[in-house]
Amino acid sequence: EKRQLRDLQMDCLDEWVTHYRSFSGEGQCAAYIPALEKANPFDLGICIIGPGGTVIKSGDWHVSFTLQSISKVISFIAACLGRGISYVLERVDVEPTGDPFNSIIRLEMHKPGKPFNPMINAGAITVASLLPGESPQNKIESLCTIIESIVGKRPTINEAVFQSEWQTAHRNRALAYYLKETGFLEVEVEEALEIYLKQCAIEVNAEDIAMIGLILAHDGYHPLRNEQIIPKEVARLTKSLMLTCGMYNASGKFAAFVGIPAKSGVSGGIMALVPPRSRQEVPFPNGCGIGIYGPAIDEYGNSHAGVMLLRHIAEKWDLSIF
Ligand code: GLN
Repeated sequence: EKRQLRDLQMDCLDEWVTHYRSFSGEGQCAAYIPALEKANPFDLGICIIGPGGTVIKSGDWHVSFTLQSISKVISFIAACLGRGISYVLERVDVEPTGDPFNSIIRLEMHKPGKPFNPMINAGAITVASLLPGESPQNKIESLCTIIESIVGKRPTINEAVFQSEWQTAHRNRALAYYLKETGFLEVEVEEALEIYLKQCAIEVNAEDIAMIGLILAHDGYHPLRNEQIIPKEVARLTKSLMLTCGMYNASGKFAAFVGIPAKSGVSGGIMALVPPRSRQEVPFPNGCGIGIYGPAIDEYGNSHAGVMLLRHIAEKWDLSIF
């Protein structure tokens, strides 16, 4: 199986990465967080990990980037583990919005102030305030511990990216003040922002997020460590949120044309996963985690070349869950 997968990498993956990298110029690095604009827009990398530990990589998979919105997935998991699913869902719903990730408009339309889902900023700031731990530092630790238990190393926070966003987070501050006023934040506004923006500034590479994807593909079970890291119920709920809300207001199109649970971030990362499939003659029949990095993003805030690459792979390897 390993040789077959190595061949896949040599024959196709390298060629596909080179091809889709050339489309990066149609996107742009996020500029509203000044530190993110410094990324090389033509970086494109991918890492795919199977449950047997087979890893295939191509392009700029080794480049570090910050989790940004991908952290919303881990934060949601950490909050559910620490506070229980029902406690979390009393404070954040599980409905897609069809609006941009940082939109404020629906906060007034629901039961007053209740964010629609944990994958938009309003929901993620709420969830950040629910993380277990007394201080912002402890709350961030709870999230880092989950990442460490999956990827095997303690992640670090990129201070420059955190500071850059902290100083320019006017929209997120507005969301947090609204949430505080309606009683959904469990900590003070500036504390909630510190937790949320620090979780967004956690540094990873494509291999790290592929590993997290793999564990979710297996309902929270770590197939390499033979350990249930995330309870099945939490993992399934998380995957449903990735599928319906993970690619912001392009989640419907992504489900239609790629068809796998995924979560993107404005720094250009995409964490995706393929559950085990019934047909055995396809690549990765027992599922896999996929990590992509391509910092030039499209109008929705998703990696432009990354989505194209993922769509191509999904078509070629028949990855859609539908
Ligand atoms: N830190 C970013 C923000 O709050 C994350 C958003 C994203 O990745 N879409 O704006």
